[in-house]
Amino acid sequence: MDLNTVVEVVSPAGPGQWRPGDAWLGGGTALFGEPRPHVTRLLDLTTAGWPALTLREDGLEIAATCTIAELAASGYDIAERCCHAFLASFKIWNVATVGGNLCAALPAGPMIALGAALDGTVLLQGPEGGRTVGVAEFVTGEGATVLRDGELLRSMFLPASALAAVTAYRQGSLHAHGRSGVLVIGRRDADATTTLTVTAATRRPYVLRFPEPPSAELVSVALTERIGEDAYIDDVHGLPAWRRHLTRLYAEQIRAELA
Ligand SMILES: Cc1cc2nc3c(=O)[nH]c(=O)nc-3n(C[C@H](O)[C@H](O)[C@H](O)COP(=O)(O)OP(=O)(O)OC[C@H]3O[C@@H](n4cnc5c(N)ncnc54)[C@H](O)[C@@H]3O)c2cc1C
Repeated sequence: MDLNTVVEVVSPAGPGQWRPGDAWLGGGTALFGEPRPHVTRLLDLTTAGWPALTLREDGLEIAATCTIAELAASGYDIAERCCHAFLASFKIWNVATVGGNLCAALPAGPMIALGAALDGTVLLQGPEGGRTVGVAEFVTGEGATVLRDGELLRSMFLPASALAAVTAYRQGSLHAHGRSGVLVIGRRDADATTTLTVTAATRRPYVLRFPEPPSAELVSVALTERIGEDAYIDDVHGLPAWRRHLTRLYAEQIRAELA
């Protein structure tokens, strides 16, 4: 879709250049998907020259501009599985960025699922400097994040310990190639701490932690207590009752698999 109110594209762009009416541009696959009459200038981040993937001793740094295709080829199984959760062809994979997926904050955002499930953090840069926020706290609702005016997402960091953990993954859609209606990721760390992360079914990510492998009953109670009925989304990709049912089913399957 043409954004016909845009009169200028700044490329490359970086922190400090934002002014009212601006929008950061990643791959543009969400930005160009609907009218944005308030946007008059695009700040193109894809030409900033940030290395897509930086392997550090303590983990993996993923630039906001890393494409889904680049991440899928990174060699991390759980990252690749999350990339496949996209309802998207190679055309989207090759341009859509990790940062754009996080910032669009769609419930079905698989990069949100990945980051939240692996205790990921995001580095935000704004006119007043930088700050680090947990991915699970970065997304606050459907299309809503903690980003302030002028702030951009520079990168996502996944700690090495979480990347090395055993993971289990379940994704459900109404149709074979439909957008995720439910995405649950389980993680079992070396010290047996178990984490269950629910996304896509809910308006924001929910991370449930258990100091040791939980029983079926404990998981069931935690899901009921932590994720209220009104947290489940009601839209064309699934009814809340279906999403809730599948979340509980997948959580139990993952619990059993990790145990
Ligand atoms: C056919 C199709 C299928 C899709 N399937 C899915 C799906 O299954 N799940 C899903 O979540 N999405 C899906 N999408 C939506 C979209 O493609 C993805 O969310 C994609 O990851 C967005 O990334 P992008 O780089 O294109 O973001 P853009 O469109 O460039 O940006 C998205 C938003 O984030 C802002 N932004 C981008 N980068 C930054 C940054 N670094 N810092 C601050 N703000 C930034 C932009 O201003 C904009 O508001 C689909 C789209 C299409 C067309």
